[in-house]
Amino acid sequence: MVRIGIGYDVHRLVAGRPLVLGGVSIPHSRGLAGHSDADVLVHALMDALLGAVGEADIGNHFPDTDPAYKDVSSLCLLEQVMVLVRTRGFAVLNVDTVVVAQEPRLAPYINEMKLRLAYILGIARDRIGIKATTSEYLGFTGRGEGIAAQAVVLLAPTGAEPEMVATAEGKKCPALLGIIRRRYRGVVAPLKPL
Ligand code: MG
Repeated sequence: MVRIGIGYDVHRLVAGRPLVLGGVSIPHSRGLAGHSDADVLVHALMDALLGAVGEADIGNHFPDTDPAYKDVSSLCLLEQVMVLVRTRGFAVLNVDTVVVAQEPRLAPYINEMKLRLAYILGIARDRIGIKATTSEYLGFTGRGEGIAAQAVVLLAPTGAEPEMVATAEGKKCPALLGIIRRRYRGVVAPLKPL
């Protein structure tokens, strides 16, 4: 049986923080506030994955009271979630996402985001949707007070022995960031690994 999951997240935009979306550092006058790198897109995606396998949300798995997650790259947290998904015997079929931000313009960065997420999710780039939209100056996103993201995922059972899949594919976070940095040349969020 396939599984579906949905995720939603919001973070405030503040001065003095880097803006990281989909694991890509985006030049902007402000960044998202949060305990980790506050990558709202990856957070929504993680909650969708966790929901699809009946798990508690990311706040339960990665508490914002835990210093281990302070400023950590959310790509590393996503990798941890994927280990869990594989442990449950599932693989990702496709994901679709929306980022709601009045500014900056995200179109130039979407391909880079897809490359990073595709690598961690273990799927081809064309199985990932990332749409950027504004909210026409309406609401908190329209006023530039924050950025929101939504994600939907579809999982399929792998048929593999769950525990074996997890141990074979789980990567250590610093190595993961190093691979992504080398393979995709662009800047990975300049924040600490898990
Ligand atoms: Mg969040």
